[in-house]
Amino acid sequence: MKYLELCRTYEELEASPSRLKKTEILANFLKKTKNEKNKEIIYLAQGKILPDYDTREIGISSQLAIKALSRATGVSDKDIVRLWKKIGDLGRVAEQVASKKKQSSLFSKELTTEKVFENLKKLLTLEGKGTVDKKMGLISELLTSASGIEAKYLIRTLLQDLRIGVGEGVVRDSIVWACLNKENKEEFNLVQEAYDKTTDFALVFEKACRGKKALESVELIPGHPLKVMLAPKAESISDAFERVGKPAVFEYKYDGFRMLINKHDNEIKIFTRRLEQVTNQFPEVVSYIRKSIKGSSFILDSEAVGYNPKTKKYTPFQEISQRIKRKYDIERMGKELPVELNVFDILYYEGKSLLQKPFIERRKLLEKIIHPEKYKIVLAKQLITDNEKQAEKFYKQALEEGEEGVMIKALNAPYKPGARVGHMLKLKPASDELDLVIVKAEYGTGKRGGWLTSYTVACRKEGKLLEIGKVSTGLKEKSSEGASFEEMTKKLKPLITSEKGREVSVKPEIVIEVGYQDIQKSPSYSSGFALRFPRVKRIRPDRSVKDIATIEEIERESEKSWKWRVV
Ligand code: AMP
Repeated sequence: MKYLELCRTYEELEASPSRLKKTEILANFLKKTKNEKNKEIIYLAQGKILPDYDTREIGISSQLAIKALSRATGVSDKDIVRLWKKIGDLGRVAEQVASKKKQSSLFSKELTTEKVFENLKKLLTLEGKGTVDKKMGLISELLTSASGIEAKYLIRTLLQDLRIGVGEGVVRDSIVWACLNKENKEEFNLVQEAYDKTTDFALVFEKACRGKKALESVELIPGHPLKVMLAPKAESISDAFERVGKPAVFEYKYDGFRMLINKHDNEIKIFTRRLEQVTNQFPEVVSYIRKSIKGSSFILDSEAVGYNPKTKKYTPFQEISQRIKRKYDIERMGKELPVELNVFDILYYEGKSLLQKPFIERRKLLEKIIHPEKYKIVLAKQLITDNEKQAEKFYKQALEEGEEGVMIKALNAPYKPGARVGHMLKLKPASDELDLVIVKAEYGTGKRGGWLTSYTVACRKEGKLLEIGKVSTGLKEKSSEGASFEEMTKKLKPLITSEKGREVSVKPEIVIEVGYQDIQKSPSYSSGFALRFPRVKRIRPDRSVKDIATIEEIERESEKSWKWRVV
């Protein structure tokens, strides 16, 4: 397909704020590609070239994009940077300079989506000496052939900031509109379920093109990550019983991070709930799994919890979070900050999906195949009861042992990938904190000059982000004292998309847990709410923008703050 045709669709999508309109535009585009064998083109709708389960990134910096643009168009780096400062979007700068470039060199060819895919995929495989030059070559080859609008979207794709407002929901709905019956709500669920099991829209699109039956047959793929099941909050033990029924399963809620364990063809892979592979970072976990779990293929759901190897005391999540992104000194880190794996579910075993099996049967299987060993691999501590007093005691005991609270699960419920289901709930002591994503930041002054020290945070409303406050306390001055301004600055700088005075906009990737005193209605932020006395509690590298608080949660929490103030 001509890349220009895709870019025209991008333009239409960018110009239409309405979600319904976007769905229609994308569905029309998908209809045109229905007969093409390769359905990967659907990844490009979100500016990606890989399925969501493959979290490798193209990873081009603005600097490299500017150089490649300069090479392809003959406009100097300086002039491009000047324009970028003025316009604030490198994509639109590319559009301007590419449409003015002298038409056109010998090397200019009409761009196809296949060629764009080919070059972008090569970018992922480059390593070692001369990488930067090779990357430049691949990018400028595309830019040399690009018209203005093609250059705009090529640059935005390379910077992974497409700005056309197409999220997971719009892609899902447009698959239904393009291939199935959009009047039938069930068919939206079918597409969503197939996606949650495989996290691959090309596969889902291909099945949907073949009809409902093909879609229904989509199963878990061992070796691939899937969207884990999520839990809404319970207000109390009795509220939990009311919602999941009696008796119910109570489990300790461990304060670590989610690990999805995959074994297939004797190979073990570990994923976070963001679908990032962390197998290399946790060699000790790989060896426990090999040693202590029977079976040649399985998918397990678990929580990894850190402990101090000397005192054997469990440590809060923050301490082990640094292992998630670690690339060097892995063995040493494993010894200093070891983790214990608390397994709480199994979704697939020896060639069979267990998603539809009742939870207690899945648990029984876990008990059969796992040989537990404290500080290595254990089963989540459980109590099955219909008695509120017993449940209350179990909850207290969990808190006394330093856990975060309890999870309450329905005995006979299936496992629903990706869903915040009503049959698994979490109960924690009342605390006021939210997971939010940083969308803007501001440079400090004086002693803090050079660091980004104040962060504008946002919550989520479907595919959109809505700002809810500015937070500048909670981080430390020195890295040795914990999460610091320096660390945050390092994380944010590569994500900067535009600058205005001391303020920068960043790609929404860094999720932080923000504590606050209460939530008030406020016209100052696009969410219509503001946090009072917000502070950064911790950085959450295991969470992505899809995990942050929704506007509905904020509304509910604000109601509570309001009641609390009145009482
Ligand atoms: P929250 O992070 O507050 O949304 O709570 C849900 C998280 O608790 C899950 O995503 C898991 O990472 C974690 N968790 C800890 N213990 C359990 C357990 N026994 N069952 C399910 N999830 C658990």
